[in-house]
Amino acid sequence: MGRIFAVTLEGRIYSCKHCGTHLALTQDIVSKSFHCKHGKAYLFDKVANITTGEKEDRMMMTGMHTVVDIFCVRCGSIIGWKYEYAHEKSQKYKEGKSVLERFKIIGPDGSDYWTSHEAHIGASDADDA
Ligand SMILES: [Zn+2]
Repeated sequence: MGRIFAVTLEGRIYSCKHCGTHLALTQDIVSKSFHCKHGKAYLFDKVANITTGEKEDRMMMTGMHTVVDIFCVRCGSIIGWKYEYAHEKSQKYKEGKSVLERFKIIGPDGSDYWTSHEAHIGASDADDA
């Protein structure tokens, strides 16, 4: 582990629930239709202030993916996963993108879940680990 280097994001920010480190911006959300074992999860085009774990193949709802777990750089909490490689052609758009578990992050409007029932359009995934 090196020294902690956390960047500050500008705008409407999602932060680590545990330590408040900035992780992603609302404008970088690709999809809110993802799922993890704790409930909702969002797919982000890019995230900041994270470290990654070992690559592993995981069977998701939409097929096999090579993913790495992602952790908050400051407190080390696991906050989601990143897609390194999608084995299904239809899932290629996920490569290089990251899923943050909604349960683990605080949104720009506070820590409450958005309670509206969102339609499940597009892709959804689950972490079966
Ligand atoms: Zn944290």
